[in-house]
Parts: sequence; structure tokens; C-alpha cells
Amino acid sequence: MRGETYTCAACGEAYEKIRTGVDAMAEAEALFSHAELASKVRVCDDCWEAFMPELPRLRAEADQRAAAAGLSYDEFMRREAVRLDQE
Ligand SMILES: [Zn+2]
Repeated sequence: MRGETYTCAACGEAYEKIRTGVDAMAEAEALFSHAELASKVRVCDDCWEAFMPELPRLRAEADQRAAAAGLSYDEFMRREAVRLDQE
């Protein structure tokens, strides 16, 4: 019996549903808004592994954008989520 499958947003391959690392999801939620997470992406472990090294850089960029806007990181992300919801 086949398990639930999903399509990786990065490589487009279909996979059996596999573990999504709890740590990885925590990382993702810290970086992306819930709106983003809810609206898309499931990636396979291979693509996630490839993406992980980018996280510190992406977070640093978000930090800089938050600082430039005079907002805390959390407030910046909250506003980003609202903006995305309205698009
Ligand atoms: Zn993939």
C-alpha cells in the first residue's frame, strides 16, 4: 500500500511522504512566514539539504531588511506575512 505522496517544489519529483525534520521545520518557520509555508513548498530531503546552507545568508538578509525598516525581526516577518496574505 502506497503512502501519501508529495511533489518536491524544487526538483519536481514525486516522493513518498517522508519525515520532515522537526528542526528543519523550525528553521523554516523562523525564516518564512506562515503564509508562505502554508501556500507552497514541500521539498524533498535532497533539495532541503541543498537549501540549508543558504539559510544563514537568507536570514541575514531578512535581518538587514528588518533593521533598515526599523523593525524587530519578528515584527518584520509578521508584516511580511500580512503583505503576502494580501497579494
Ligand atoms: Zn527535490
